[in-house]
Amino acid sequence: MTAATHSTPFPQVPETADAVLDGLDPEQREAATALNGPVCVLAGAGTGKTRAITHRIAYGVRAGILQPSSVLAVTFTNRAAGEMRGRLRQLGAGGVQARTFHSAALRQLQYFWPKAVGGQLPRLVERKVQLVAEAAARCRLRLDRNELRDVTGEIEWAKVTQTVPGDYPAAVAKSHRDAPRDPAEIAQVYRMYEQLKQDRGVIDFEDVLLLTVGVLQDRHDIADQVRRQYQHFVVDEYQDVSPLQQRLLDLWLGDRDSLCVVGDASQTIYSFTGATPEHLLNFRTRHPNATVVKLVRDYRSTPQVVHLANGLLAQATGRAAEHRLELISQRQAGPEPVYTEYGDEPAEAEGVARRIRDLIASGVSAGEIAVLYRINAQSEIYEQALADAGVPYLLRGAERFFERPEVREAVVALGGAARAGDNDSLLDDAVDLPSQVRAVLGTKGWTAKPPAGSGAVRDRWESLAALVRLGEDFERAKPGATLSDLVTELREREAAQHAPTVEGVTLASLHAAKGLEWDAVFLVGLTEGMMPITYAKTDEQIEEERRLLYVGVTRARVHLGLSWSLARSPGGRASRRPSRFLNGLRPGSGSRAARAATSGVAGAAGTERGPAARKRTRRGPVLCRVCGKTLTEAGEMKLMRCEDCPSDMDEALYERLRDWRSHQARDLGMPPYVVFTDKTLMAIAEAVPSNGHELAVISGVGARKLDRFGTDVLAICAGGEPGGDDEEGS
Ligand code: ATP
Ligand code: MG
Repeated sequence: MTAATHSTPFPQVPETADAVLDGLDPEQREAATALNGPVCVLAGAGTGKTRAITHRIAYGVRAGILQPSSVLAVTFTNRAAGEMRGRLRQLGAGGVQARTFHSAALRQLQYFWPKAVGGQLPRLVERKVQLVAEAAARCRLRLDRNELRDVTGEIEWAKVTQTVPGDYPAAVAKSHRDAPRDPAEIAQVYRMYEQLKQDRGVIDFEDVLLLTVGVLQDRHDIADQVRRQYQHFVVDEYQDVSPLQQRLLDLWLGDRDSLCVVGDASQTIYSFTGATPEHLLNFRTRHPNATVVKLVRDYRSTPQVVHLANGLLAQATGRAAEHRLELISQRQAGPEPVYTEYGDEPAEAEGVARRIRDLIASGVSAGEIAVLYRINAQSEIYEQALADAGVPYLLRGAERFFERPEVREAVVALGGAARAGDNDSLLDDAVDLPSQVRAVLGTKGWTAKPPAGSGAVRDRWESLAALVRLGEDFERAKPGATLSDLVTELREREAAQHAPTVEGVTLASLHAAKGLEWDAVFLVGLTEGMMPITYAKTDEQIEEERRLLYVGVTRARVHLGLSWSLARSPGGRASRRPSRFLNGLRPGSGSRAARAATSGVAGAAGTERGPAARKRTRRGPVLCRVCGKTLTEAGEMKLMRCEDCPSDMDEALYERLRDWRSHQARDLGMPPYVVFTDKTLMAIAEAVPSNGHELAVISGVGARKLDRFGTDVLAICAGGEPGGDDEEGS
């Protein structure tokens, strides 16, 4: 994947400073050469804002006007910061700091803390939501999972708008916020949360900025030292700057004005956290001598994609929309965006995975494809569908399993117990590996029964339970394996997950996709309730959702797929409607057609419906073959039984299949799930197919996999050895 700027694998470093400017159009060049004084670039998506600022920095450095170490470039995601550093290096301007606000602040805070406060900087709190839950409990408030999320969001908002607990109710009233609970109650939880943090000597994400601001405000000597170091500031995605970040920027600048900001008010997607495009839109007012540049040429997307983006914005209302900029595509014509209505979510995921496979077959690389969704919980079904289709993928934005704090802790604890071996009294009564794992993880909060408690507690338990299951699977696969064998396996898995060797389709939330671009983008789950999301209620919140969709659309260079499903699960009631934002834009979606689409099975005129959609809608519910219950979870549907219904799986066969899969995966240089997922292998070990037809009907075995692996799998099922003829390149 390439982000922000499209790069070739081994680009030539421009020979001279002037050569750095060669790749820019006249307006971009104006921004890049205005090295003194304030500069503001106001422009739409894909017009080369990020490109203009990286070239600006590189030009200044190469021309000897800017000292590399005196420039601080800030952006909003680590990924974007990394991308910017890479681009700067390619332009011959390595050594320039490109960071997120947060990481720049954290670095300064760590450096100055001993001098400003004394001692070491307190630890960052790892599970904020859990701490908020605790604070609520102490205030005798019962918050469900959603309320907890919303109250945490309110505390974050209060902190970035520099509102103390006592002022929160008034601030809510003043800003017309729709507080999820009585503001007085939230203020109470907020106060308790701050207290708990202080008692435990921890700080949170927002504190990093607050404390840095505090230090720079109070200690002029430290502020001077920072200002001597950094003389020039560049901010990407400036429309999403929060009041707190702006305050920090002001403190960094002091009375100087060497500041260059770029942004697009139509892409403001963080106002729920207190960000506001006003700083961008009012830049001229604050800096009357600023050079203001507007860019309109869209270099990223085809006219077809740009047409849809412009259409979406044309319907927008509110402050940001007053400043919308019509984009003009500079690219050749490409395919029309494809709108697809599916019967249910698994059908949608399967359909999207199929289209992705076709694109890859037609020559688009997996790294140039993304599936973008509204909330991270939507990723699982796509992970499964892509794995089943044999397509490698990468998750972005969501925490990866091995990076979860409880998983790290658990792996450390298992490692400790393995090292202590017989000397660890924990293991006294644990005779086999699974019981050893349970004993160790029991000290970390694992219990045989899932907790009834709040979301965060449950999440933590789920992670530990997954490790317990992994221990059981491992023992089954390798009888006699020790705890240290398991720890080695865990470390290998952890390393493999970080290994950048798998070039995969990106799965990301729309928020995490900001600033990035791909050849093909699939925007999925575009139903009312998801886009806009149910909890967006006020007009402003709805407008922010529309901008989020605009951000999604404008990530695509060439191929754009937009899809939704009418029901959650097969056989479920087709009660969903496609996103209102697409009305009048998707073919045949005048209000009449839009109503037709809501009436059930029939698709809106002109929209495509994949064959799987039809197949799914007719197929009816999937029933558990053990107890007959209707299945709704993707994983259970794949197994064709409830997770906890007894399995009639041939365990020895399952192990042989897993061994075979490991070899295949190693030979192909891919992760094992790309060959077959565990669920598919279990289904095979339960069904024990004796011919290609019986194998083909198992979920997760498509025509392609049947072709590629069918002979091997059938040979293993028949009790023999898989054939030795490796079909290289087939
Ligand atoms: P966003 O608003 O999504 O952050 P952006 O305005 O920052 O977009 P860039 O990511 O800088 O846009 O550029 C979009 C794409 O267009 C990139 O692939 C970039 O390399 C390309 N591009 C920008 N300007 C030019 C140009 N003058 N000539 C050729 N390609 C360009
Ligand atoms: Mg950009």
